[in-house]
Amino acid sequence: MNTGTNIADAIVAGDRRALARAVTLVESTREDHRQNARAMVSHLKTRGHRALRIGLTGTPGVGKSTFIEALGLCLCDAGKRVAVLAVDPSSRRTGGAILGDKTRMPQLSRRKEAFIRPSPSSNTLGGVAAQSREVIELCEAAGFDIILVETVGVGQSEVMVADMTDIFALLIAPAGGDELQGVKRGIMELADLVLVNKADGDLKPQAVRTAADYAGALRLLARGDDMPPDFPKALTLSALTGEGLSEVYDAMDELAHWRDAQGHTATRRATQSQMAFEHALERELRSAARNHPQFAALKSAAVQEISSGAVAPEDAAKKIARQIIFLE
Ligand code: GDP
Repeated sequence: MNTGTNIADAIVAGDRRALARAVTLVESTREDHRQNARAMVSHLKTRGHRALRIGLTGTPGVGKSTFIEALGLCLCDAGKRVAVLAVDPSSRRTGGAILGDKTRMPQLSRRKEAFIRPSPSSNTLGGVAAQSREVIELCEAAGFDIILVETVGVGQSEVMVADMTDIFALLIAPAGGDELQGVKRGIMELADLVLVNKADGDLKPQAVRTAADYAGALRLLARGDDMPPDFPKALTLSALTGEGLSEVYDAMDELAHWRDAQGHTATRRATQSQMAFEHALERELRSAARNHPQFAALKSAAVQEISSGAVAPEDAAKKIARQIIFLE
């Protein structure tokens, strides 16, 4: 029995350290590590386990970790295994992981049915997306029932997360009506659920008003036919007191079951795989070209030609691309 199979067996048995090691392989910069990880995922996938992948976005301070901790604990109590992953393309630049930090979810991180992992630190957005996708696949194949993927509204991160999950939820705080515009239209169009958190104490009436405003705004957006008539919807909850939490999960569950039954989940995942393939192909072609033995020499010759004005930049680029393709 090789080590890969041993790790796979340990992962299926619920060994979180083994899973963390496998995630590290997925995120490795070494191609042989990544290949081993992919082989392991393929091996685990033969078990046919399916998870519900839930994407969650919200600005810092809105209550994401409080919500994930509360929801995660409920799910664990209900006998489910929960993975929490983060997608944060900015963590490299800002130098600190804001998301996926275990100290933000102290109780959940102690539960053996839960697995919490911060964002991969690839230096490209495409790299983060690809690694996150593979970690999701790994966790799903490993037997987790719910995979929560959280992100903050940085750049394209919400679109990235929506493109790797089955359901996408936007967490917001109670606010005055003018704050509605603070949420980008594109994000509203991605959201299956708008969750107004902090609906407790003095903030409750405001939260109810905010939810009504968002419900109105959601109705105005033209959406596809991949959801039941009463979706997308806006709900209020308090992650702190737990009020409204089960309604939120029921809505997620209802939507997930409906999409499964209608074939939308399968279609959505197929589209996502197709897109992941397109992006991976672009990356592979680019790196194959850069790693070509003639690339550096051809490039520096082209730079000379361009600076002397002998060749137009576009022509020089095209020529190199052709030379690389035909030299192989
Ligand atoms: P994150 O940055 O989005 O992960 O937000 P946190 O979960 O760290 O929450 C930010 C602050 O909001 C903390 O002080 C929380 O205690 C508080 N908070 C989170 N959820 C609620 C809630 O439902 N009600 C109230 N009143 N405060 C909350």
